[in-house]
Formats: sequence, C-alpha cells, structure tokens
Amino acid sequence: MQQHIDSYDFAGKKAIVRVDFNVPLNENFEITDDTRIRRAIPTLKKVLAGGGSLIIMSHLGRPKKVDPKFSLKHIVAHVGECLGVPVQFAPDCQAADEQAAALKPGEALLLENLRFYAEEEGKPRGLAEDASDEEKAAAKKAVKESQKAFTKKLASYADCYINDAFGTAHRAHASTALIAAYFPNDKMFGYLMEGEIKAIDNVLKNAKRPFTAIIGGSKVSSKLAVLENLLPKVDNLIIGGGMGYTFIKAQGGKIGNSLHEDDLIPQALDIMKRAKELGVNLSISVETVVADDFSNDANVQVVDSRNIPEGWEGMDAGEKSLKIWKDIILSSKTVLWNGPVGVFEMDTFAKGTLQIAEYLAEATANGAYTLVGGGDSVAAVTKMGYADKVSYVSTGGGAMLEAIEGKDLPGIAAVRD
Ligand code: AMP
Repeated sequence: MQQHIDSYDFAGKKAIVRVDFNVPLNENFEITDDTRIRRAIPTLKKVLAGGGSLIIMSHLGRPKKVDPKFSLKHIVAHVGECLGVPVQFAPDCQAADEQAAALKPGEALLLENLRFYAEEEGKPRGLAEDASDEEKAAAKKAVKESQKAFTKKLASYADCYINDAFGTAHRAHASTALIAAYFPNDKMFGYLMEGEIKAIDNVLKNAKRPFTAIIGGSKVSSKLAVLENLLPKVDNLIIGGGMGYTFIKAQGGKIGNSLHEDDLIPQALDIMKRAKELGVNLSISVETVVADDFSNDANVQVVDSRNIPEGWEGMDAGEKSLKIWKDIILSSKTVLWNGPVGVFEMDTFAKGTLQIAEYLAEATANGAYTLVGGGDSVAAVTKMGYADKVSYVSTGGGAMLEAIEGKDLPGIAAVRD
C-alpha cells in the first residue's frame, strides 16, 4: 500500500530515495545548473527531520560502463551544502551494505551512479554489432535475471522507498520502478513527484474550462500521440512552431522551404477532421515570420502562413497569429504548453515564444492554471525568466511528454500499485 511522505513515521528508519541528480557538469566537473538537486531537497530534508537516515540514489549521464567522468562523487559536496548535513559517498552502489547499515538518524549516504551497472536499465551491454537474434535474446534474458539481484541489493539497504525522480518516471528501471515491490507497505512519492503528478492531473483529469493546449516544436511525428490524447480533452488546440507547416500544407497552403513531414499529411488531415467533429477550436498559425536561411542573420519578412514564397522558410509566429493566440490563452482557465512556437534558440526568431510565455504569465496572474511541460518550452520559459510566473514548470522532459500522451508512467504506477 502506498504511503504518504507527510504522515509516514521516519523515526529510526532508513529511506532509500531515488532522485534525479542528472545535473549538467562543465569540463572541471562543476555543476552548471543545480535545479534538479534543489528540487529534491524538501523530500530529503523531510526524512532527516523525521528522525530517519537517507540512502540517496541517482543516475548521471548515459555511461555504458564504470566511467569516472560520470561519477556522482563530483556532486557529493554540493548535495551536502544544499541539504545542510555532510553526505557520505558509496563508491559502488552494489557494495554499500556496511555504509548503509552504519547510518544513524540524520545522516545521509549518496550511492555511486546506478547506470554504471547495466542492471539499472535492464538492457544488455557490449553486444557485438553482428550478434544474432538468439544472442541478443539470451543477453537480454541474462541481464533481466541479474537485474533482480541488483534491485534486491539496493532494497536491502533500507526500510522504506521514496521515488522523487520524475525525470525518469517513464523508465521501468530497477531504481525507478522494480524496487518498489520490495516495499509493499513502505513506498511513497517525494514532494517533487507529487507536484508533477498533481500538475498532470490538473490538466488531464481536472482541467477547468476553457482548457487550451499549445503544442509547438519541430515535428508532428514526435507529437502525434500528444495531439491524439489531448484532442478529446481540450476546448482549444493551438498548433505552432515547425509542426504547423505540415497542417498548412495539408490544407493546400504554400509553405516554401518550411519544415514539414509529407508522410504525416494524412494524420494532420485526420486531426483537423476530428477537431471539427469534437467541436475543438483548432488554431494554426495565420501569419509567419519567414527567413531566406536557417540563421539568426538571415533576411526576414512577415507573410501569410498559407503563402510562403519559394526559397523562404517559416521560423516564428507572426503578430496576427500571436494576437489570436493571446485572446485564446487569456480567455482560458487551464493552459498546457509544450513546445516553442518558433526557432527560439535564435534571438531573431524568439519573439513568438517569448510572447506565449508572457500570455501564460498574464493568464496565471488572472487566475488560470498554467503548466509548461515536456521539452524545449521548459528551457524557453526558464531562459526567458518566466518560470516563476506560471503555475508549474515540469522537471521531466520525456516523462511529461509521455504523461501528456496519456501513458501510465512505470515510476508512478509502481508506487501506486
Ligand atoms: P520539440 O523538441 O519537438 O519541442 O522541438 C523544439 C524545437 O523545435 C526547437 O529546437 C525549435 O527551434 C524547433 N522549432 C520551432 N519552430 C520551428 C520552425 N518554424 N522551424 C524549425 N524548427 C522549429
């Protein structure tokens, strides 16, 4: 049975906590953005304040073997500073028995990078390129088998399990999902995870209407499942960014050199048809900032989105589009935003995305619930200084995207089951 971190008695207990400390490091192994560490601190402090001790576990990067570059030793001191107590380090996550057993209430231990072991992900490593299907199947079976012992070992260190790693909640890994089974009555979410789940529920289950989703980004193919899941739920669906041009082409518009996916035109047509049937207001860009090169210094003009001249490509939303979208956003009670509406990494084409961030901030100030989640829109609102002005900014790119696709995330399901 799932417990709640606020009511669980941590006194004298050891808590193994899966966090997402996959922070960016520079060439001197210094942390360049500690957001992920800071977001997990309330959960970690709660255990210590309740008289428990901590065994903290995470991955860092994508090592395929033991690799000092990806060692969590680089971040131990900083985790200790954020937590307010010194943090011990276990240089092998599978040989931390003694250190874990010796922990006293109020003490904390950080395990070395879980992904130094193939068992964390449960995927075979080091297979020859020309391995046969039988060899692949045997290797997969072997790692799945040893994954059980790996998971059991991690579980043996502690009395209870907390999952606070939303960033990996869409992965069915040893530390994110499988371990929960060892704590049938002592498993729970941390505060960060709870916040993310609540944010998802606020838009997918309990949205106040009108509910608007703004889906931008580069490709329809990567957002098809998102669009399909949202269509029956929303009142307004704004499609922006590079993916909009596939829809415009599907309607017979001229899109010049704009990004598009011809093979997805049938799906785009189907989405437009279903939106009509469901009474969803589907809003696609009517005016576009186009450039004669995919470059910040390109020549620029503003044109009708259905009449982009040959040799020019759509790079950002034009004023007319933004005006329509502003009215929709400001008359909404719930807004979900995923994906920039232009090539925001280039200053010349960041204006549309910045405007959307401003509209969300204004809607939030007027009482709407606004969630920014999944991928580059998070980077955009953070870069543009709007992260504090919307209701919630998700920490999980891929995990949030899968949640918006309507998938059950293994890291969440394992604690709830
Ligand atoms: P995604 O990861 O699918 O959310 O896509 C984000 C990317 O879409 C960003 O790198 C943007 O630069 C890109 N993008 C947005 N609008 C356009 C556009 N009109 N043309 C090309 N790329 C775009």
